[in-house]
Amino acid sequence: MSVRTTTVRDLSDEQLKGKRVLVRADFNVPQNDQRRITDDTRIKAASPTLQHLLKRGAKPIVLSHLGRPKGTPDPRYSLDVVAVRLQAILGSTVRFCDTTDSEDALERSRSLAEGDVLLLENTRFLPGEESNDRELSRRLARLGDVFVNDAFGTAHRAHASTAGVTEFLRPAVAGLLMQRELDFLGASLKDAKRPFVAVLGGSKISGKIDVISHLLPKVDAMLIGGAMACTFFRARGFETGQSLVEHDRVDMARKILETAESRLTLPHDAIVARSVDDPESARAVRADSIPPDHAMLDIGPETSQSYGRAIKSAKTVLWNGPMGVFETAAFAGGTRAIADAMAAGASQGAITIVGGGDSAAAVGQAGLSDRMSHVSTGGGASLEFLEGKILPGVNALDTRSAT
Ligand code: ADP
Ligand code: MG
Repeated sequence: MSVRTTTVRDLSDEQLKGKRVLVRADFNVPQNDQRRITDDTRIKAASPTLQHLLKRGAKPIVLSHLGRPKGTPDPRYSLDVVAVRLQAILGSTVRFCDTTDSEDALERSRSLAEGDVLLLENTRFLPGEESNDRELSRRLARLGDVFVNDAFGTAHRAHASTAGVTEFLRPAVAGLLMQRELDFLGASLKDAKRPFVAVLGGSKISGKIDVISHLLPKVDAMLIGGAMACTFFRARGFETGQSLVEHDRVDMARKILETAESRLTLPHDAIVARSVDDPESARAVRADSIPPDHAMLDIGPETSQSYGRAIKSAKTVLWNGPMGVFETAAFAGGTRAIADAMAAGASQGAITIVGGGDSAAAVGQAGLSDRMSHVSTGGGASLEFLEGKILPGVNALDTRSAT
């Protein structure tokens, strides 16, 4: 028997019909200087929970943060723009309240018409949000009869609107997005169908050490790319030239290589260049032949091919961290090859999961998001979850026994 988080699906119609449901969503979307939303993935991802609630006659009162306004109102981070986009996505009226912790917000939560959604202003305009203030949590709890946390991207933070509020408001359950994230990043990896391949890259090994140690015993193969490969190269004694190497992590990389043995694979070739700003100088070299005046900026073509083959023969693939400086076309090939191989694997029935903000952006840029089994909406949260950490926003929710 195991214990699992209760979700909105576990709530009865009576628990929802006509009830005010306080939903913590993650509408932390990127905007440009004119405050135009440049990527609405997170708003779309939150809509199944809201639709589910509307269909059952519940009244969703939605909370979210946006940006880092540091506990004080800042018009650059108002959720007013999100309200407009959310209304377009849901096709239901979204009312916006320009305060969060106020009598007006409370009154509006009580007078909300069935079929409408009420979005309250940015929770991080409130000084008590990030400090998980108990009094603020208590006041937020008055806004609903039921609490739903669907903000996976913020679940690794114990804030008033993610964790504190649950002390005063029950039932407190996971939303559909939260459930999906927990299922893919948790359950499907715990019991992964084999072969289980992890692909890890990104800029720094230091940020990923705990993910490596947590996943290594579980996987059949771990394929390494990104700048982190260079720290492993140093551990092997290779010349790494101008590459991004974390010198204080070389010993740790050596220890990982020793314990991992053949399960950990390093790139056999690399795309190097004099610098990121000099793509003209880009060329492929063997991994042990990086010129002293060049930096490794992507995995090489042979590595892309062999990683691609390993991915396509796997039943479960988890990817975190780009293989190179994918923001520049000359160094995006390796990252693109991983995305292509995972999309191909998924169409053959493999479970393919992408975690990490930049990796998700790379998959989106390649137009392959819909072809993956799951692309996590949580950057930091997905990493902490993959490290095996308990997420406070999840831990605060109701659980039930499952067989
Ligand atoms: P994620 O957000 O998916 O967890 P990270 O934040 O760990 O990924 O890493 C993404 C960054 O790593 C990207 O900005 C990319 O340019 C950088 N990167 C990848 N490979 C290299 C490399 N060889 N040298 C320098 N930076 C790299
Ligand atoms: Mg990142």
